[in-house]
This record gives sequence, structure tokens and C-alpha cells, in this order.
Amino acid sequence: MDKIYFDHNATTPVLDEVFDAMLPYLKEEWGNPSSIHWAGRVPKKAVEDAREKVAAFLGCSPVEIIFTSSGTESDNLGIKGLAYAKKKKGNHIITTKVEHPAVLKTCKYLEKEGFEVTYLNVDEEGMIDLGDLKESIRPETILITVMYANNETGVIFPVEEIGRIAKEHKITFHTDAVQAAGKIPIDTSSLDVDLLTISGHKLYAPKGVGALFVRRGTRLVPVIHGGHHERNRRGGTENVAGIVGLGTACEIATRDMEKERAHLEKITKRLENGIIERVPDIHINGGGSPRLMNTSNISFEFIEGESILLGLDMHQIAASSGSACTSGSLEPTHVLLAMGKTAELSHGSIRFSLGRTNTVDEVDLLIDVLPPIVERMRSMSPLYAGSNEPVVFKR
Ligand SMILES: *Cc1c(COP(=O)(O)O)cnc(C)c1O
Repeated sequence: MDKIYFDHNATTPVLDEVFDAMLPYLKEEWGNPSSIHWAGRVPKKAVEDAREKVAAFLGCSPVEIIFTSSGTESDNLGIKGLAYAKKKKGNHIITTKVEHPAVLKTCKYLEKEGFEVTYLNVDEEGMIDLGDLKESIRPETILITVMYANNETGVIFPVEEIGRIAKEHKITFHTDAVQAAGKIPIDTSSLDVDLLTISGHKLYAPKGVGALFVRRGTRLVPVIHGGHHERNRRGGTENVAGIVGLGTACEIATRDMEKERAHLEKITKRLENGIIERVPDIHINGGGSPRLMNTSNISFEFIEGESILLGLDMHQIAASSGSACTSGSLEPTHVLLAMGKTAELSHGSIRFSLGRTNTVDEVDLLIDVLPPIVERMRSMSPLYAGSNEPVVFKR
């Protein structure tokens, strides 16, 4: 039985091309990029070449890219760095209730440091209301941080409009684009965004490398203090191989985006429609909003997502319930709760997130094995009396 992986929003495999590009920097080119002697020259050039590739991918200048250790660190640097730099100007930050913990927990931390944070609600389709955003702006608002696309539901936020609103009010705008990067085109030259986060391992590069776009003129207080690396904005000897991997992955993403989008859209629709046709009493979470073409988050009434996952795992199929970061905890996911789902429905949800190597055959196998698993679990569920209610789902 071949293994099937439908959990690309949790992490992606490293592409062969990415691995091959990295390998020299783990072997013969082991020098420190800060060294002025022979050993540093090639690694230094590799880091700067990678910076150009990431910049080309995001439509910015290489000096506007800071390499970090992760999406989490980029979010921390963007949010804390900006908050501390603008502390004298104001202490109010606006975000949403459905951000990744890397943003939510950073905002929670800043509340302890004297900042005030507004957490915007989302509607039942996982979408924010721009009217709410405008109303929450105060004279002391210094930062708006709203994700580009949600990792659990795939819902895409209106970052163009948010950027415009932020600019009008001279407020800095940060967006966590970790899930959007590589799936939808991101162009910082046409977006009013000042800070933007990406992460290597969600983009077919390895774990442990990320980047933060910082628009020229945006001042940040460093979060990691150390040497003069990254123009004094982030101390620490560069993860040369990881950075090269991220650069290569960005290059590949630019090259293959259109082709991959079409492929992913086709197979993800096939998966979702297959499940809609064969399984009653389900809800497509965020189905009424614009969504990433690879993500389908589905609530199955009367049963636990975790038990479906175990059933799928018997068939070597990997998917996830909630997000990888909160699975293992018994708390229902904050994203579905914010969308007004009951705790039961949140527990009964599964996220399928597809990637470039998934095939039609894999999807067809899933839609064959899933319905009997759900039926069997429901037949054992005390909550399930064989519902004759019409199926309610939105596309
Ligand atoms: C995965 C993820 C992160 C964290 O990135 P890491 O590189 O794993 O630290 C941040 N935001 C979103 C939306 C993510 O999906």
C-alpha cells in the first residue's frame, strides 16, 4: 500500500532540485559567509543569490529580505520588532481571531508588555469584515497584522483592501503569507504591505528557514541580538544551506505556479466533490469564501475528526484535524470556534491539504475508503440516530 500525504499545510517534502542545490553548502562549501577569506566567499555569494531569488518571488528588492529561522520567527520579528519601534507613537494593534499561533501568541505577549490588541471576529465562512477593521482603528493604532490565507480553512483574506486601509491611516501592515506563498501570486510591489512572512517548509524547502519582507523605510527593533548579520536586523550566522533551499524553492514556485495551481485546483475539487457526493451530514468550512485551491476543511457531524484520521491512517493516508500545531491537544481549534462552529463540529473536522505530487488516483482512493470509515464511526456514535435532515453545505 503506497503512502498518501494530504497534509501539505502542515509541511511539504523537500523537492529534489532544492535538496541538490543545498547539498554543496552542507559539504564542501562549509565556510562562514561573514568571513573575508576564501572559505567565506562562495557561501556569501550563495546567500546573496538566494536573497535575489526570494526578492524576485515577492516582487521586492533584495535589501528588503531578512532571512530568519522560521515563519514563527518572521512573525515575531515583524510584530514585536514593529511594536517596539513604534511604541512612542502608539500602543494599539489589530489582528484577527483566526491567526496562526505565531501571530496570536505574539500579540498576547505584547498585551502583557502594555500594548492593546483588537482581535477581529470572522463570520461563519471564516471571513473578516472590513467595516469592523475600519471601526477598530484608533489614533494610537500602529500595526495591523492579518494573515494572507488561513492555514486551517484556506480562506484568503482581502489583503489588497486591508493594505489600502492601513496606508490611508498611516498604519504599518504585516501579513503572514506562509500559506499563500507558492499557491497564489504575491506581489509586494502592488500590495500596500510593509511586512510579510514566508516559511521554507511550507514551500518545498526544508524546515528551519524563513524570511521576512520589510519594506524600505520600515524600522524594526531586532528580536535576536547578535552580530551584524542581515544588516543588523537579525543576529546569528546564516543557515546557508537552508537559505539556498528557500531561494531555490522560491525560484521553482515562480516557474511552476500556474501549472501547479491548475493541477491542485482540479484534484482538490475532485476530492471535495467526491466527499460531498458520498458522505451525508458534512460542512465545508469556509466554503463560501475565496479559498486556497489546495485546502479542504470538512466537518463530519456526530463523530470525532481524530478517529477518522486513525481510520485513514490504516490506509496509509495522512490528513489532519485542526492544525498540526494544536493537534494532540484536546482543545477544539480556535479557527472553527471563531467561525461559530460548535465544539462538537470543530472536533469533527478534518483538513485535507494537497500538494504538487498528489494524483487523481490518490484522491479517488480517498473518496473510496472514507465513506465506509465515516459510516462505521457514526454507527458507533451515541450522537447519531440516522439523520434524515437535508444536508447543509455551502460551496
Ligand atoms: C506553519 C505556519 C507558520 C509557522 O511557520 P514555521 O516555519 O513552522 O515556524 C506561521 N503561519 C502560518 C499561517 C503557518 O501555516
